[in-house]
Amino acid sequence: MPREIAVIFFAQDDRVVPVDLVEAIAWLEQSGIRHKLYMPARGKRGSWRQAVAETLSGVQADEVFVCFLNENHYLATASLLQLVFCAEFLGDRDIHVCLPALSLFRGRPALRGRFVWHAKKLTQVLGERLDGLKKERLFSPEVLADVTVRLGYRRQILSALWSPGCGHSCSFCFSRDNGEMIEPDAGIRQEKLVFLLELARLTEASCFKFRDPDFLGVPANAWEALRILGSVAPGTAFRCNARLEDLNREALVRLADAGCSQVFSGVEHVSMRLVEATGKQEKVLGLLAGVLAHKPRKMDLALSFLAGLPGETLPEAKDNLCLIRKLMKLKGVKPYLGYYVLFAQEVRSGAFFDPLLACLNFSAIVPEGMFLDYQDYCGLLKTVREDAFFSFFAAALNRNSAEVIRMLLREFSADACLSECMPMARKLLLLRPELANRIMSELGAPTFLCRGAV
Ligand code: SF4
Repeated sequence: MPREIAVIFFAQDDRVVPVDLVEAIAWLEQSGIRHKLYMPARGKRGSWRQAVAETLSGVQADEVFVCFLNENHYLATASLLQLVFCAEFLGDRDIHVCLPALSLFRGRPALRGRFVWHAKKLTQVLGERLDGLKKERLFSPEVLADVTVRLGYRRQILSALWSPGCGHSCSFCFSRDNGEMIEPDAGIRQEKLVFLLELARLTEASCFKFRDPDFLGVPANAWEALRILGSVAPGTAFRCNARLEDLNREALVRLADAGCSQVFSGVEHVSMRLVEATGKQEKVLGLLAGVLAHKPRKMDLALSFLAGLPGETLPEAKDNLCLIRKLMKLKGVKPYLGYYVLFAQEVRSGAFFDPLLACLNFSAIVPEGMFLDYQDYCGLLKTVREDAFFSFFAAALNRNSAEVIRMLLREFSADACLSECMPMARKLLLLRPELANRIMSELGAPTFLCRGAV
């Protein structure tokens, strides 16, 4: 049995309650095992490396456990990169990495070393590693609510996966299949949902999030979840994701009446040619018009768009941006622009290295308000070039896509409101363009942001 253990927790988004971590801390407190929790960069601004070094310099424990807020693979990837770059601060101890979606990272040379990988949650790993720490069942919501609030998560967001993944297969989608993450026993699933909703009520959560990629895919499931929400935590605002085709007038009213504050839906692109090529199988523009017409006033609509689709022409990209700009002007409508290329597994094989994209995507690993130092920036470039998994940073962009992205960056740089709908672009500006430009010129790539951009 170790004399003391350290738990290091990385989160990109500190608004979401990490229930597994909360539960682990409650166990450790109850079992009297000496432990210390480290949350690098939490609430800090400035250099990410400096914040991590300062936080971890005092880690004295015999065993170190690392966990992440891991809502999807994309965040897990970002978290793993953070781990790689904080390893030097952790000495020669074994570092147990607890990451349920581990299968993605097995055998990645850049991520081996002293790390002991566990494809499990922190609570499971602790239960197995520490003799005498027996997991009974979940703590009462009251006990966990106390720990949650002490960890600084009062009035934050709680989330649950309630139903299996989406039955569709859009080529760009990284979240359609959550089948492996979900408890197959309906009774246990319901018990968990009740538990999380009680925790939400006790911690006065600002919002409850159904993370299901397609909440309305099986309507009866969705209405059952909302019945439970109404009986356990009435009045709690919630968010969910749904396909446009499922958001008919009746469904929108029903969601709003149950307390839905925001639905997230994918429009993807104004060009039907491009949407069809992704296998989306939705007449998105017609559907969008219907959803906008029936949108309840008290419910926001978050709409996802894509840039960088293979074959996307500059005029198509401009038309897409034009629609986004129009939507931005509507009350309660929030368009977001993401990168297809980040998740396009099937086009990775023909990859070439494009520092422009790499610089954009690196910004995702940095918590809000922080920036990467030159050393980390170069380390990340090196990692993604060496490791096949990270080839998504170097997806097969054709000339058009590079042009499109440059055009978008120019537009985003010049328009603060527009940059709100692309968090990555916003963060890139935070990452100090002069640094990005310096690295890119060392790599022989053209600079892409002008100084006046920030
Ligand atoms: S409909 Fe949505 S969740 Fe389903 S595969 Fe397409 S993008 Fe993914």
